[in-house]
Amino acid sequence: MKKKHKYIFVIGGVISGVGKGITTSSIAKIIQARGLKVTALKIDPYVNVDAGTMNPTEHGEVFVLADGDETDQDMGNYERFLGVTLDRLNYMTTGRVYQSVIENERNLAYKGKCVQVVPHIPLETIGRIKNAAKKADADVTVIEVGGTVGEYENILFLESARMMKIENPDDVAFIMVSYLPTPAKVGEMKTKPTQHATRLANQAGIQPDVIIARSELPIDQKRKEKLALFCNIAPEQVVSAPDADSIYDIPLNFEKDNIGDIVLDRLKLKKTKSKTGLKSWEDFVKRSKKVLAGKKEVHIAIVGKYFDTGDFVLSDAYISIIEALKFSAYDVGVKPVLHWLSSKEFDKPSSLKKLSKYDGILIPGGFGETGIDGKLKVIQYAREKKIPYFGICYGMQLAVIEYARNVLKMKDANTAEIDSEAKELVIDIMPDQKEKLKDKNYGGSMRLGSYPAKLEKGSIARKAYGTDTISERHRHRYEVNPEYIEKLSLGDLKFSGTSPDGKLMEIAELPTKVHPFFLAVQFHPEFQARPLAPHPLFTEFIKASVKKKK
Ligand code: GLN
Repeated sequence: MKKKHKYIFVIGGVISGVGKGITTSSIAKIIQARGLKVTALKIDPYVNVDAGTMNPTEHGEVFVLADGDETDQDMGNYERFLGVTLDRLNYMTTGRVYQSVIENERNLAYKGKCVQVVPHIPLETIGRIKNAAKKADADVTVIEVGGTVGEYENILFLESARMMKIENPDDVAFIMVSYLPTPAKVGEMKTKPTQHATRLANQAGIQPDVIIARSELPIDQKRKEKLALFCNIAPEQVVSAPDADSIYDIPLNFEKDNIGDIVLDRLKLKKTKSKTGLKSWEDFVKRSKKVLAGKKEVHIAIVGKYFDTGDFVLSDAYISIIEALKFSAYDVGVKPVLHWLSSKEFDKPSSLKKLSKYDGILIPGGFGETGIDGKLKVIQYAREKKIPYFGICYGMQLAVIEYARNVLKMKDANTAEIDSEAKELVIDIMPDQKEKLKDKNYGGSMRLGSYPAKLEKGSIARKAYGTDTISERHRHRYEVNPEYIEKLSLGDLKFSGTSPDGKLMEIAELPTKVHPFFLAVQFHPEFQARPLAPHPLFTEFIKASVKKKK
């Protein structure tokens, strides 16, 4: 029998930024915990074809999928909550949808018809949603529609949702994430903005089945009843969503209001099992709380450059790294305290001393020239003072340059990204990338997504992973120059992970006899760290940092 796919659309009301992504992840998690096969999908209303061309200080991290798609950071939350690997079909933007429609039109796929915004854009959107559900073999697909109701930008996506509901009313449910302000002077939680948002949704032909009442505090029964009356639902369909200590609490909080049952009822799905499917999740949440309440801490300095617009943005730009550090620290049993340092401040050597108080130093991925000198000095300091160092992507390329310059005495060592005329290009552009840049082909053209690597016997990496072949996600244009591999390996620094053909350097490390932990990777391990499956390299780094502390 053909599987019946069901769909839940998560839309926003009142204001954005109050947790639609986490709501989507949590609902998906709850349904998954009931024993159903679930996938999650994000629709971003902007015209960019993907998130790869957007500045991380403005848009947050670019989350890279295994198949190489450069997506929104919410996709990372879906993968972390669900413990699954998502497909590029699970991500779309206005740009991507229009691009397909226009390509189809050029290929005569519309057979001479006039191609129109409506219905062709919603039909393309619906086709993509259904394909994603089919490919994931999902019982339920949870779809997050970016933005809020009443905007121009997402109206065609709301129209797609409405059309799917009309086609099969029992297969589609709507959840609206709304916001209930409590103005300080009034001192009372107000429901009116949510009433208006519901009307705007109604205008788009959408009636929410559940309203998630985001607020500082839990919503009371009286206000649930008021919302019920004005928003055409039952009081039980209003789910309380006060601010939580941790995003990982949210699935557990939602289930207290029985959201799983409400949604499954709506979709005419059997109320499979109880809430016990959340047991391992609950254990993770409990363990992390215990660690956070404890006294054992580990202080990690993250030296990067995307910090310029204040605290809020910086954590968004490195969200997967932050989460990966947390999962491993909880696993090891220490509270992670992260310190954000802008690489520019280390251009002055006198600032380096402050680094000695940290237990570990991490340099994440990056692009371009800004702050490079500072980062190189930080790496040198970590190497010489034996502070655990973990370099990711640019953090590996710079570690190789630092080692070449200061230990192997190749004083002109550099990367072509900064100086393509440098005498010793130990980091060079990959040959196929050269062509792409020449043609100004920047979008989605880096070396992206999962590639395998083999690990050297006896290396730190090999021991940490416990296996000799791995698969990790990438996003880079430059690599260790193959012509320099031999020369670069003359000292203690060894390439302990390479592509299976041995040509591309994936991991560099110093042996433990010369440094407690100095390891850097060309790939992005953070994209595969999961709450229920911490990443072995992050765990190894945390362990080494804890040891240094002692
Ligand atoms: N800028 C470097 C490259 O393109 C590193 C990229 C990264 O850190 N993600 O190779």
